[in-house]
Amino acid sequence: MKKCVVIGGGIAGLTSAVYLSKSGINVELIESSNKLGGRAYSFKDPVTGSIIDNGQHILMGCYKETLKFLRLINAEDNLIYQDRLSIPFLNNNSEIFKLEATKLFHPLNLLMGLLNYNALRIEDKVTLIVFFIKLAFSNINKLKDITVERWLFKEKQSENLRKSFWEIICVGALNSSTKNASAELFASILKKMFLQGNESAALIIPKFGLSETYCKPAQKFLLNNEASISFSENVLELIIVDNSVKKIITSKREIEDFDYLISAIPLPALKKFYTDNKLAKIDFENSCIVTIHLWLKENPLSEKFYGLIDSPIHWIFNHGDHITLVISDANHLVNIDKNEIYKMCEDELNKYANITEGNISAYKIIKEKRATFIPSSDVLSKRPGVKTNVYNLFLAGDWTDTGLPATLEGAVQSGKIAAELVIKNYN
Ligand SMILES: Cc1cc2nc3c(=O)[nH]c(=O)nc-3n(C[C@H](O)[C@H](O)[C@H](O)COP(=O)(O)OP(=O)(O)OC[C@H]3O[C@@H](n4cnc5c(N)ncnc54)[C@H](O)[C@@H]3O)c2cc1C
Repeated sequence: MKKCVVIGGGIAGLTSAVYLSKSGINVELIESSNKLGGRAYSFKDPVTGSIIDNGQHILMGCYKETLKFLRLINAEDNLIYQDRLSIPFLNNNSEIFKLEATKLFHPLNLLMGLLNYNALRIEDKVTLIVFFIKLAFSNINKLKDITVERWLFKEKQSENLRKSFWEIICVGALNSSTKNASAELFASILKKMFLQGNESAALIIPKFGLSETYCKPAQKFLLNNEASISFSENVLELIIVDNSVKKIITSKREIEDFDYLISAIPLPALKKFYTDNKLAKIDFENSCIVTIHLWLKENPLSEKFYGLIDSPIHWIFNHGDHITLVISDANHLVNIDKNEIYKMCEDELNKYANITEGNISAYKIIKEKRATFIPSSDVLSKRPGVKTNVYNLFLAGDWTDTGLPATLEGAVQSGKIAAELVIKNYN
């Protein structure tokens, strides 16, 4: 018997399950809710009947493992790909400034594009270009213990640059303000995103709801490969004897016929039934993302998405029948009444996109309080790897030590590495 149990049907668990079943291992995936996708799923809005996401997700060309995974499950056509980074930014006069990488000058296409980004003054463009050239040759380990804010200050980035560029990039990439995020992580992400040419920097967005885009294809792949998926089943306890998990106790049954176990659930859920010295020391601080879906009588927007300069709203995504506003780094909104958030959105939409109150026919606000963890230097140094002290238990999930922020790419990478270790142990 070659059997591995995977706990958690988010993208990390789905990745582990797909790679394991592809290599002929018998997989049982256990998910506590009644759906796949974890923190990235879609559902039918009961009022409007539209399929909407719990939160808009953006991928990038540098998400190499996610794109490989999507190809493997036959889902690559479910996404819209840019050929090079192009972001229309709006200011509070509804003016558009395009940040667009150039076709030529690989791998510095984005730096050349910055020259044409007219939300920035000429002196700021020069400062930015010097910053990126310096980054290309610098040792980012030196940034280990400082925040992004401190780093930008040391690098003499102006107030305007911070507002019109750095806050947007930092909040977008790390779901954290420059005040809290680790400069080392940010620098490594900037290198991956912006210094490796157009393919890496291009943005990729799902064509359909997230569940349609990747959960259903992953489920189909698993069922075709004879894996089993159990929904609404909560793992409650592990019986560990001699450094080996012998029994998994769930809300429905006891499981003993397995060799390996991959846990692909968030850390607080794991700590309810397993911890060790390393895990006990980690205390993640969560960062909320607020998503506001708005249905318009007439949609005046022509681009697929927009970044907003110096606004509490960071992005607008245009789905045709409705638009989605995204507010990242949103812990300050957790206890704010939804009507108040809606009023603020109305005001901003008026200023930034000429969309007036009378044009909005319905709205829905989703607060994801535990969207990601805040990647401070302290937390990053404590993230565990895939292996545990228990020989047949492996960890996956966006919170494990992938060298990446909490993203789909981090989750996929961790899920794949955990699966590869199990496969290696069988060989
Ligand atoms: C609003 C929002 C916007 C985001 N935007 C982006 C973006 O633009 N780009 C990007 O790359 N990332 C984004 N992210 C982050 C991304 O969604 C996550 O990093 C990723 O989905 C995490 O996947 P995971 O599999 O590690 O964990 P999860 O998705 O949390 O999956 C864990 C699963 O385990 C299950 N589970 C928990 N406990 C148990 C138990 N005891 N027994 C059985 N099952 C259990 C849960 O129900 C869940 O399905 C966003 C997240 C949110 C919330």
